[in-house]
Amino acid sequence: MRIYLSSLGCARNRVDTELMIGRLVAAQQEIVYDPSRAEVIVVNTCGFIKDAVQESIDTIIELAENKKTGLLKYLIVAGCLPERFKNDIVESLPEVDAFIGTGAYDQVEAVIEDLDQKTARKKALWPDPDQMDLQTCDTPRIRSTPHMAYVKIAEGCSSHCTYCIIPKLRGRHRSRSIADIRKECERLIDSGVKEIVLVAQESTFYGRDLTPETGLGALLESLAGISPHVWIRVLYGHPASMDDRIIHTISAHENICAYFDLPLQHASATVLKKMGRPYDPPFLRDLFSKIRTVIPDATLRTTLITGFPGETEKDFRIVHDFINEIRFDHLGVFIYSDEDDLPSHHLPRHVPKQTAKKRRTTLMTSQAKISLEKNRKHLNKTVKVLVEKRGAGGLYVGRTSFQAPEVDGETIIRGEGLTIGDFASVTIREVHDYDIVGELT
Ligand code: SF4
Repeated sequence: MRIYLSSLGCARNRVDTELMIGRLVAAQQEIVYDPSRAEVIVVNTCGFIKDAVQESIDTIIELAENKKTGLLKYLIVAGCLPERFKNDIVESLPEVDAFIGTGAYDQVEAVIEDLDQKTARKKALWPDPDQMDLQTCDTPRIRSTPHMAYVKIAEGCSSHCTYCIIPKLRGRHRSRSIADIRKECERLIDSGVKEIVLVAQESTFYGRDLTPETGLGALLESLAGISPHVWIRVLYGHPASMDDRIIHTISAHENICAYFDLPLQHASATVLKKMGRPYDPPFLRDLFSKIRTVIPDATLRTTLITGFPGETEKDFRIVHDFINEIRFDHLGVFIYSDEDDLPSHHLPRHVPKQTAKKRRTTLMTSQAKISLEKNRKHLNKTVKVLVEKRGAGGLYVGRTSFQAPEVDGETIIRGEGLTIGDFASVTIREVHDYDIVGELT
């Protein structure tokens, strides 16, 4: 059958989609990249917050149109949206033929077969995500990112932030083994990948659940030894589970990007307590000064939430002062999304959306100045850039080790004859708030 897959949400969801594509190709199914040619469409959804839920529903309804106009026979919805809303979503989306929860990705080809054989016993499959087998290096996968690869090192989360639905959708934290992840990375590097991006819900908690217990530091040590020419990057860390071994391992290996993605969510001790984030400003100051002592030019990325229930003007001033003090290289700011099936919903003194938006604007305005100041330190310096595509006006576009995929600025390269997917030496001649521009050296 001709199958089209749509992937919504985060990098971890993208890996799940790539694994579903791998399974379907292994089952001799044909993958098409135009939904109007598809007999089956699978939408791998996000259900994290209201906006993501709405985007998922809009995408499903839009693709369902192909039943009227195209060749579409079966529409399947997978992932966090059906996992979160279960029977409510089944009733509200009659145009969908089957629902697959986050614990049943490995049954996608069977679901399609059952639909086609008219032997589908159940319209919805949502086994306990905790029970789903983790992917291994032998799980078939078709990647959608040519030169870099996301590698999911663990599934689920054992933290319980009061505003986050993920533990309910993905189960408790379960790590893959170092040997299994290393084998997957060896194959990816043999296939020409130049950057491995390690992802999980809480990457810095990696290995704490394994017997014998291990850690992200040990994993990084193992992966750094595969090839000195391939970048290893970690995304989605957590300040509370960052440890000295991780910092020193990153410092000891040039091919591990000195890039620390540590979502704080806030910097007021009062708000952090209500969020269920087990740290406070003194802890954070110690952590960032330790990182910068061991790795002076470390890149720091974080995310913050404005408008969390009970956030006062004083709390907001604390977080605003904190970003001006620490001066992150990259910052993302989200407005609190009130989800009535989460503990934070029951907290008093909810903040008006308008106020939350104003606070986000204030933080991002300050951050733009900080980012420009940070980018200025690269002026007239020569940096290594992974060339990813041709941009406007025939210029090349790529990323440095201090620019993560999809979330940070890019490097615009003036020059000719570059190979997409290769590294290039670029001297930075121009900097902006987020992007930087350079010429081949
Ligand atoms: S650590 Fe991250 S994924 Fe886990 S509950 Fe908190 S916000 Fe959600």
